[in-house]
Amino acid sequence: MTTKRDYYEVLGVSRDASESEIKSRYRKLAMQYHPDRNPDDKAAEEKFKEAAESYDVLRDPQKRGIYDQYGHQGLEGQGFSGFGGFDDIFSSFGDIFEDFFGFGSSRRSGSRTRRGADLRYDMKLSFMEAAFGAETQINVEKLANCPSCGGNGCEPGTKPESCSHCGGSGQISRSQGFFTVRTTCPYCRGNGQMIGSPCNNCRGAGKVRVSKKVAVKIPAGVDNGSRLRLSGEGEPGENGGPPGDLYVFVHVTPHEFFERHNIDVICQVPISFIQAALGDKIQVPTLQGDKTLVIPKGTQPGELFRFHGEGIPSLKNGRRGDQVIQVDIKTPTSLNRKQEALLKEFAKLEEGKFSNKLRNMLKSTTAGAVR
Ligand SMILES: [Zn+2]
Ligand SMILES: [Zn+2]
Repeated sequence: MTTKRDYYEVLGVSRDASESEIKSRYRKLAMQYHPDRNPDDKAAEEKFKEAAESYDVLRDPQKRGIYDQYGHQGLEGQGFSGFGGFDDIFSSFGDIFEDFFGFGSSRRSGSRTRRGADLRYDMKLSFMEAAFGAETQINVEKLANCPSCGGNGCEPGTKPESCSHCGGSGQISRSQGFFTVRTTCPYCRGNGQMIGSPCNNCRGAGKVRVSKKVAVKIPAGVDNGSRLRLSGEGEPGENGGPPGDLYVFVHVTPHEFFERHNIDVICQVPISFIQAALGDKIQVPTLQGDKTLVIPKGTQPGELFRFHGEGIPSLKNGRRGDQVIQVDIKTPTSLNRKQEALLKEFAKLEEGKFSNKLRNMLKSTTAGAVR
């Protein structure tokens, strides 16, 4: 595991810093380490990414809350993994850079691309499906590019027109004293294009709500809380940006008598005290079906028996855990007269073995307490 610097530390703000404080600190760092000012400088690149990741978390009250309580691991548990590279940062922070620097993400020209939203799907699985894996189909409600206009929002046969207000650049310049301030064009919202005759099907939005069947392959060994990522199955991006991802969160229904301990499966099996004392051969349920288990003479309550390698496969390396049988020794609660007589006979033969042991225990604690 790699260690990461504390996000507050990275931005150089206190833990109770306000949103605007955080933003202005980030702006300074982003200016300082911006790749356009530090071409081919690996160290600056790292700083730039680190600051972006910190800002991305601390600007979002929900992420910030998780980070405050659980640290980096808490966020990883929620599927947050920071940024892959510059493109990632520019596509998430496009707007912010615009108001920071008065220009858009400098690496892009024309209309702004944006990655589509990630989606979440909660899936219920039975214990066995989680243990052995499954293939299934789910219906995902999401936005998709309009089939009629292909996503550009224009009535088929027409084309988007260059925005007359900004001349297609998506930005408007304004002079303020010595400075020229550039802002996003409010008419085309930065796209540089306007729709003359909007598509009838999507009313110019370019997107429509659809229900899509998505095939999901559940790997054997998933557990409650596992998260599967289906790359590109989220909502479509804008202006040719990549689609988001679909995250499937797994909820496993508990089994009637199998209990999972990491990759081992434990099953409690009742046996009588006679079987425990004399030994026996019994049939027990396992993940692989019923199996024969030899109970040795003198088995004690709670004793564990293992079928090695017959548990659940590890998601990491495929190695399988054990099927564990734990015996639950039952004392009879209703004896007939003959059984009772036989047990009394048996007790006589024990010649007070157990009571002697207990007497010694009592003596030793009394000796310890009264000094
Ligand atoms: Zn359309
Ligand atoms: Zn415009």
